[in-house]
Amino acid sequence: MSTRDKIKEAAVSHIVEKSLVLVAILVGLAWVALKPFIVQRILPALSKELLAGLLAATIILVLVASAYIFYLRKKLYPKLKYHFGVLWDEAQNPFCPKDKMPLQIKKANNPYEKFPDDFVCIGCERRFTLTDENGFAIFTVNDAKQKMFSAQRHDPSRTPSPPQ
Ligand SMILES: [Zn+2]
Repeated sequence: MSTRDKIKEAAVSHIVEKSLVLVAILVGLAWVALKPFIVQRILPALSKELLAGLLAATIILVLVASAYIFYLRKKLYPKLKYHFGVLWDEAQNPFCPKDKMPLQIKKANNPYEKFPDDFVCIGCERRFTLTDENGFAIFTVNDAKQKMFSAQRHDPSRTPSPPQ
């Protein structure tokens, strides 16, 4: 996920949370202001079935909104796994092991894939090159993804994701 998407989703998550709080406050205020009117005029006119229906609808709405917030949060803070000296999400995007910000891949001056790709953190600007468990440089991000993909393929507990 790109940084812009992340910022956008953080904003949406923020707005949804703030809206829920605002709605709760408004409902509370409206209840205080309108309680005498509601109790005397409206409640006797409403059937119990309708009230139960309204209650159920409200509960469902709150549950859906909570699930949406949970989904956005999970997307914002994905599970990261450590491979080759950096962290990776499930879509095989690299992240900084220090502050978990996305890493930018610098492929410049690498026409024959002769030098390792540089990974630069957009947060702390640390530079990383990928190394395997024996300390040997992994040359490009595609090499790393291929290695991860074949490791996943040999592990029957995981469903492999397609290489990118
Ligand atoms: Zn960093």
